[in-house]
Amino acid sequence: MGFNPIVDEDKCQGCEQCVDVCPVEVYEMVDGKSHPVNAEECLGCESCVEVCEAGAITIEET
Ligand code: SF4
Ligand code: SF4
Repeated sequence: MGFNPIVDEDKCQGCEQCVDVCPVEVYEMVDGKSHPVNAEECLGCESCVEVCEAGAITIEET
């Protein structure tokens, strides 16, 4: 079983908190929005979900 992080770009406010908190560097900022460029590395810890005040991130179990 794996995990797939998803960012709702309409909700993302570009605060970069998810970039800073993720222990395996899943996220990078592209044009002011967070993108899960290394999604396959996700551990499912949900630290990014907790830190995102915009509620833009969901972790899908795959
Ligand atoms: S923590 Fe949320 S609002 Fe901030 S950059 Fe990440 S996805 Fe966007
Ligand atoms: S759930 Fe954890 S490992 Fe996965 S993207 Fe969020 S902070 Fe990174």
